[in-house]
Amino acid sequence: MVPKQMPEYSPQKGQSIVSRGHIRITQTAPEKPTQAIITIVHHRPTNFMPPQTPLPSSQHITMIDAIEDLLPQTQCGKCKHPGCRPYAEAIANGESINHCVPGGQDTIDALALLLDIAPLPLDPSYGKTPEHRQVAVIREYECIGCTKCIQACPVDAIVGAAKFTHTIIRDECTGCDLCIAPCPVDCIDLINLPERLLTIPAQRQAQVTLQRNRYELRSTRLANLKNKQDARREAPAAPVNEAAVAQIKDSKTDIIAAALLRSNLKKAEKRLDSALLDGKDCHELENEILALRAELNALNG
Ligand code: SF4
Ligand code: SF4
Ligand code: SF4
Repeated sequence: MVPKQMPEYSPQKGQSIVSRGHIRITQTAPEKPTQAIITIVHHRPTNFMPPQTPLPSSQHITMIDAIEDLLPQTQCGKCKHPGCRPYAEAIANGESINHCVPGGQDTIDALALLLDIAPLPLDPSYGKTPEHRQVAVIREYECIGCTKCIQACPVDAIVGAAKFTHTIIRDECTGCDLCIAPCPVDCIDLINLPERLLTIPAQRQAQVTLQRNRYELRSTRLANLKNKQDARREAPAAPVNEAAVAQIKDSKTDIIAAALLRSNLKKAEKRLDSALLDGKDCHELENEILALRAELNALNG
């Protein structure tokens, strides 16, 4: 199949272009600061083919990037993939384009246009696209500070510390609902905001970029942490200082020996007391006590 071509977007006088993947943001220099005109254009690459056609690997990667650019970056997993990038990869390998619940019909239509295939309705077995933007809210007086929600949030939109109340940064919450199930006291609600959910890729580009950046930053942070943990685990053990270990062992042995001597000394002194009361010969006991005291003094230095 011959891929369709999009006309190249040429900046006018006084315009600047920023590109990310296949999205171009054209900014017109304003006469007054409040008059900035920002046009976000989805630029269709000219080298795309439908996913059924085998592609050389470099084109394949380009297509995955372009598909990912159209996904909402909610990272919710509702498409049954662990994030938007894995679903983009699956689409590039032939998976159906109608599994992204937050993206809804607008995203499906954009994907169909990109891939030159017929649009489909959203597969209802994956869920229903909400009409309004949703965010999670913590009932803070019930929060026990277990941090489980922080670990579940793919865009680091939750702040808190162990045993302290947690809270959600509303502007950064994607409404993915991944924090709700792990909460052991069920104190997180998903609420509808008055504003409608933006699903048209060009309209929600700023939001998508923010969500993607936060997701990537979090992924990098977690990967660095794991690398450090692995490196620590695999690092060769520090050489053992045999002399220090022997000294510790000796000192422990001395402490135990001294405790035993003190105990035996006390017992011998008790026996001596009762032998004296009974008027018995105490010569041997006295010698035993003297020997024990001498041993104890030697051990204590
Ligand atoms: S936003 Fe869409 S593509 Fe991304 S993880 Fe959720 S369902 Fe999948
Ligand atoms: S706070 Fe909850 S609903 Fe909001 S982005 Fe994080 S995990 Fe998703
Ligand atoms: S999972 Fe629930 S209880 Fe635990 S820190 Fe988050 S909101 Fe608080």
